Amino acid sequence: MLNIVIFGAPGSGKGTQSDKIAERYGLQHVSTGEILREEIASSTDLGKLADSYMSKGELVPDCVVIEMLEELIARNKGAKGFIFDGFPRTVPQGEALNQLLQRHDETVTIVVSLEVEDEELVDRLLKRGAISGRADDNRKTIESRLRVYYRQTAPLKDFYRSKDLLKEITGIGSVESIFESIVKEIDKVIV
Ligand code: ADP
Repeated sequence: MLNIVIFGAPGSGKGTQSDKIAERYGLQHVSTGEILREEIASSTDLGKLADSYMSKGELVPDCVVIEMLEELIARNKGAKGFIFDGFPRTVPQGEALNQLLQRHDETVTIVVSLEVEDEELVDRLLKRGAISGRADDNRKTIESRLRVYYRQTAPLKDFYRSKDLLKEITGIGSVESIFESIVKEIDKVIV
């Protein structure tokens, strides 16, 4: 199996690149943010809980997303591999992902980190908010998401660097050129 984690701040382009990676390598795209937004749209209990965090730009509790992931992996046993987009977002989630995969005799193959400076991130998210109307793409929530990213998510970079899995890629440029850089790194680890 090919298990890719795509990592980066909000607005770094994880979702866009994940779709392309999933298509190129035939992987199952797992976006915890998308799953949670669907739960919110269907007004499920999980959705109501998630919304109370997401609307403030905070993370949904680890135990909730970990359980969601556990079910998803179990349901997709036959997959060629996964691209994890927006998960893990904390070190405990990173540890849980390792354990989950281990249970299926699998590991994380590579972690791609998209590097984009804050100013550009805020710009992109404000633009996206204006077009898509995504509830959390407003200035106040964006600032909180960035703070949460640096405090809770960025430490995962050292976690994966120490396992020699981290590949940092510049997330500035055209979608195609960034995708090419990612593909180069992935192809190095699968051949
Ligand atoms: P972005 O990376 O632009 O913030 P996402 O769709 O990945 O977009 O995430 C949107 C929101 O969903 C996050 O701010 C957070 O509240 C929640 N969320 C998504 N994934 C996780 C996760 N793995 N753990 C906790 N909360 C999450």
